[in-house]
Amino acid sequence: MTVQCCVCRKVRVAGEWTQNSMDASLQLSHSYCPVCLGETQAQFEAERMLMNSNMAIHAVT
Ligand SMILES: [Zn+2]
Repeated sequence: MTVQCCVCRKVRVAGEWTQNSMDASLQLSHSYCPVCLGETQAQFEAERMLMNSNMAIHAVT
């Protein structure tokens, strides 16, 4: 089973994330590479904090 990042389409080969040069017929398991995982988590955190601050504003008004 080959793991492919669903964001940047890199594939993990022997523990290394590289640009996809694999046959498309290979079975792929979709996941995140470390870079995209970090960006996704950062974006998620930012949205969560924004939501929390909006809720805080609602709470005091
Ligand atoms: Zn990626």
